[in-house]
This record gives sequence, structure tokens and C-alpha cells, in this order.
Amino acid sequence: MNVKEFRKHAHEFADWMADYLEKVDAYPVKSNVLPGDIYNSLPGKPPQTGESMNEIMKDFEQIIMPGITHWQSPNFFAYFPANSSYPSVLAEMLTATIGAQCMIWETSPAAAELEEKVTNWLKDMIGLPTFFDGVIQDTASTSTLAALLTAREKITRYRVNKAGLRQENRLRVYCSTETHSSIEKAVKIAGLGKENLIKVATDDKLRINPEKLGLAVMDDLNKGYHPMCVVATLGTTGTTAVDPLKEVGQICKAHNLWLHVDAALAGTALLLPEFRWMIDGIEQVDSFVFNPHKWMFTNFDCSVYFVKEKETLLKTFEILPEYLKTKSRGKVNDYRDWGVPLGRRFRGLKLWFVIRSFGVKGLQEKIRLHVSLAQWLKKNIEKEKFFELMAPVTLNTVCFRFNPGNIIKSQELNNLNEKLLNILNKSGKLYLTHTKINGDFVIRMVVSQTYVTKKHVENAWERIKKSAQDII
Ligand SMILES: *Cc1c(COP(=O)(O)O)cnc(C)c1O
Repeated sequence: MNVKEFRKHAHEFADWMADYLEKVDAYPVKSNVLPGDIYNSLPGKPPQTGESMNEIMKDFEQIIMPGITHWQSPNFFAYFPANSSYPSVLAEMLTATIGAQCMIWETSPAAAELEEKVTNWLKDMIGLPTFFDGVIQDTASTSTLAALLTAREKITRYRVNKAGLRQENRLRVYCSTETHSSIEKAVKIAGLGKENLIKVATDDKLRINPEKLGLAVMDDLNKGYHPMCVVATLGTTGTTAVDPLKEVGQICKAHNLWLHVDAALAGTALLLPEFRWMIDGIEQVDSFVFNPHKWMFTNFDCSVYFVKEKETLLKTFEILPEYLKTKSRGKVNDYRDWGVPLGRRFRGLKLWFVIRSFGVKGLQEKIRLHVSLAQWLKKNIEKEKFFELMAPVTLNTVCFRFNPGNIIKSQELNNLNEKLLNILNKSGKLYLTHTKINGDFVIRMVVSQTYVTKKHVENAWERIKKSAQDII
């Protein structure tokens, strides 16, 4: 392909992109292909000679698109969102075109300095104290891994980095039973062993029980373990429960434990002053992660990791081979020292485009709309005789189940709700997922997609009620 053809196709693609986003709600939200369908439609061997873009695009439309689940559909209510937005997509086009690898300041000074600026903007926008320094990672999983590795090195005075884990097999990490699976994964990767991750029970609102946390730490101390870190969650993945940060922080302070906060989804809600109660006690926090790539209209991947003691983070990850030595070192941020990978995408650009294009007020308006739509849904569920609300609605997530009242066995009720969920998702008109709360199968509806409006939520709720009637 030459630049002339590139220009022509780039214009065509721009139209394809606008058309797609304009009518994205016309696609079945969840792809209904069967395992192997896509794989078996593709040739066994790559082409020996180049093919035209028209041929490639034809197969993209016919083979690939049917296997896509449409996360940007306003009828996407599953998992947590992975939102994009027009300014974010435009920035991604520039990022892809420039194709810079932003591992250190010298490999693109603008990328490093823009990253520093937008993470500082974000810190201010969500009300974090100024003592935090921010860095953009790919995912919350990576950010949490960085937190655990840093905590491990701090508590062992950098001995594990030097000599390995041999003598440090009694380090303990604490979280609640509702914590995201990425914590356990990070504990395993960090070499701490999942037996040393203590999952503390929650209260009736599925928040970590601070009293039980305190007891677990004391118990471990008595047994000769070495408590190291607590992970508190703001907005759990199941039901968006918010752990009581202040009380957890007091326990961390008393025992000198690293406090990491996982606010992957809920960090975005902190844009609204009325949700700042969630970070009451933030002074005690050592590290904090939130994902603009979930609720803040910024294309995946973009996870912002804030850390209180930048020096500890750098000391954990710093490595300096001859070929990476530069004159600017020490005067600027070389972000390769702030996490696991060396190579880095230019992720600050899309965040900058999103914040500038929406403005803080524009972002706040959309988040407020989502919160109010979730409340609207909650009220309608409460009014309905055969539906039950299954968890408090704190942010954007509504957990409920269908309960026609004549079913006694909880397993049968679970089966009924699973059936309802499958019928709804098969319809292609909306996409929902589930969780289990104390063994009960619960349907989750997350109202947060970039383009969602009241009409979409109303239509979804009508369909849920109608499908429920049809299966009894
Ligand atoms: C989504 C989520 C994660 C994982 O996020 P990734 O960026 O995909 O790693 C972690 N914690 C919570 C609470 C989440 O909701």
C-alpha cells in the first residue's frame, strides 16, 4: 500500500467509523456465534501475496463483525462498561499513526509530560490529595500488581528484589470476599502465595467488615505471620459495594500496613462531589487505581495508578542498562520505571482529548445521568411485585432477580433467573450479566454506556418484565 491508497482508505474508514457508531444499536449486542465459527471461516494459511484492502474489508464485514460483541451499544448493560467516545477514538487514530513507543522521556518528551499533566488533572478532578503521583498503566490488574510488588519491597527493605522470596514466606495480604480476582492473581504473581491472601467477611451491604479485618491481622501476628498489605475496594465488581476506607485505614495505620485502593470503576464517580464520601480517610492510602477505560469514556486500555511514595515505586522497578542511560535522567519522568513493562503506548493523549472535549462539567453531567437512571430502574424494580432488588444501588449497578413467589427452592429460583438472562441476551436487544450473592443467582444491570439514554433503560426494563412473564 502506498500513501495515496492509505489516504483514500483512511477517508473511507472515517465514514465506516461514523456509520458504525451512529447505528451501533442496530446490531445484536452480544455476538451469538458458536465456538469455532470464526476460526473455521478463516483460511488455514496466510496469503503469500498481498491482498487488496477491499478484499480484506469484505472479510472483516462478513466474518469478523458477526463475532463482535458491541460494547459501544447503548443497550450494553453487562459487566462494567469499556466505554469509548468520539474524542477518544480520534486520539487513538493519532496515537496509532504516530506510533511512538514512550518508554522514557527521550523517546517522546511530549508523551511523558502530557502523562504527568493529565494524571495531575485527574487527581484534582477526583479529589485526591496532592501528595499522590500518577502514572498510566494498561489495566487495574497491572496497577494492583505494581502496588503489591512495591508493598513487598518496602516491607522487606528491597530484600526480595535482591535475594528472592526464600525467607519471606509469611507475608500476608488482606481483602474482602467480594474483592476482584485481580488481587488474587497479583498475589500469586508476586510470589506471595494465594494461601497468604486472607479474604475477610463482609457486612450485610457486602462491604469489608473492619472488625473482622482487625481480628484477622491480630490473629496472624499471634501466629508469627507478617501482615503486609490491605486492599480496599471502592465499588466491588459484583454489586459496587464500598469498603469503609477510614476504618480500614485506621487498622493499616496501627499495624503499619500498605493500603491499596481498588476503585477501578468507582474512581469515575469521584468526579461528582456527592460521592467523595467514598474517599473519606484517603490520607492513609498508599496507592490507588482507577480505570478511565471503564466509565470515563476513554478507550481501553487506560488505568491510572496513583502512589503516595513515588520513590518506593521507582526503587522497586528501576533498572538501568547502559543503552537506556540518558542525560535527562533524574530531571524528568521515565515512566518505564513506574511499572512492569518497558515499552509503553502514548495513552495520555486520549485522556487529554476526552477531558478537554467533554470538560469536567460535561463528564459530570453524563455520570450524574447514569447514576439517576440506575436509581430510576431501582425504583421501578421495587414497585414490581415479582421482582426483588438484591443489593443496595450505590452507583450505576442494579442487582435484582425475578421471583414469581411460588418457588420455594433457591436452586429453582436460580435456574429460572439464569433462563431469563439467557433469553434476554439471545434476543440481541440488550446484554446483561449476572453475579451470585450468598448463593443466589442475581441479574446485574449496569447503566453506564457512553450513549445510553432513558429510553434505552425503559425499553430494557419493559423487555425484562415481558420476558419474565413469558417463562412462567
Ligand atoms: C474491572 C475491575 C478490575 C480489573 O480491571 P482490569 O483493568 O481489566 O484489570 C479490578 N478491580 C475491580 C473492582 C474491577 O471492577
